[in-house]
Amino acid sequence: MVYFIGAGPGDPELITLKAYKILQKCDVVIYAGSLVNKEILNFTKKDAKIFDSSKLTLEEIIDIYKKYKEKDIARLHTGDPSIYGAINEQIYFLEEMNIPYEIIPGVSSAFAAAAKIKSELTAPDISQTVIFTRYGKNIPTPENIKELAKHKSTLIIFLSVNYLSEIVETLKTEYPIDTPVKVVYKATWKDEKIIHGTLENITEKAKEIKNTALIFVGEVFKKKDTFSKLYDKNFSHKFRKVKP
Ligand code: SAH
Repeated sequence: MVYFIGAGPGDPELITLKAYKILQKCDVVIYAGSLVNKEILNFTKKDAKIFDSSKLTLEEIIDIYKKYKEKDIARLHTGDPSIYGAINEQIYFLEEMNIPYEIIPGVSSAFAAAAKIKSELTAPDISQTVIFTRYGKNIPTPENIKELAKHKSTLIIFLSVNYLSEIVETLKTEYPIDTPVKVVYKATWKDEKIIHGTLENITEKAKEIKNTALIFVGEVFKKKDTFSKLYDKNFSHKFRKVKP
């Protein structure tokens, strides 16, 4: 059995209890050495065979699945495996080989970073939509960030801090210039950095940040008094009964 496990954003305590229990029984562990905190490997069995996927090709990873198909294998992905996790191709081959698998969700860096900037990502009258995206420079990205920006929704941009200035120039054409922008580097790691700015000044403020960061953009990050009606004493009970 192969377990795709969301290893969370960095802090080993942000792994789920389910993932923790599975890790304790797996004979083989493949972890994404570039982003998964090695302290999580302390949760594995003493004699588990450990592989760092950042040094392996897809074929080599598939060979490990094949070789140990009778065993329990943990495949640790950073954050949640469903976001830029590259699990599709692994699932494809596991299904071809009739090897069973399960996906154990994890805390995405998006949510860990939102917690660190102490923000709700949605707010009434401002944005009820969050867009997870990346800047398509060298990678095919069907959606164009300028088109996405037209919605003025909350944006969370992965894998793209290298292109911050280009992104900001594009967003300026759609969002007001004083729209808050936050760059969160290595959320929940010991060397975490959080840079607060606006479309006007974030490029300069965050110029040192070159990787492992998220870019948050949106009016929701302004201090605001547009509270949710959910707990409002005047809010009709009729609406409260509606199941979320
Ligand atoms: N599946 C992961 C994302 C993998 S793509 C998740 O759910 O978080 C890798 C990108 O995720 C990085 O380039 C960066 O944009 C972001 N990332 C991962 N860990 C991060 C962290 N601790 N802090 C900030 N950004 C992080």
